[in-house]
Amino acid sequence: MGRPNEFKVAKSFTLGMTEVAWLAEQVKKGDKASKVINKLIRHAIAEEQDKKPPLRWCTECMVNTGRYKNDEGNQFFCEKCEKRDYVLEELYKQYQGRTNHLEKMLDESSKT
Ligand SMILES: [Zn+2]
Repeated sequence: MGRPNEFKVAKSFTLGMTEVAWLAEQVKKGDKASKVINKLIRHAIAEEQDKKPPLRWCTECMVNTGRYKNDEGNQFFCEKCEKRDYVLEELYKQYQGRTNHLEKMLDESSKT
């Protein structure tokens, strides 16, 4: 039983055993640990920016709260009380419909 591989970084922090084992696997496949971690963080940042919920007045909590989407992205729920926001869903649908309509118009005008 030897010591597990160590990963050196300029600032030290602690990783869980499962995470270190997974990272070691990635490094064995040929990627640098820093490259793997940077990729994960970039992915997390992009995901967070994409999922940042819009603030809206919740009729259930009676406060301005954030909304989160379901996995399909077509339903919105209050961050606090998890009440479904049908009004926001309707607005979102209309917005998407307009965007699709606009894209179609632009598409057709570029053909002529
Ligand atoms: Zn609420």
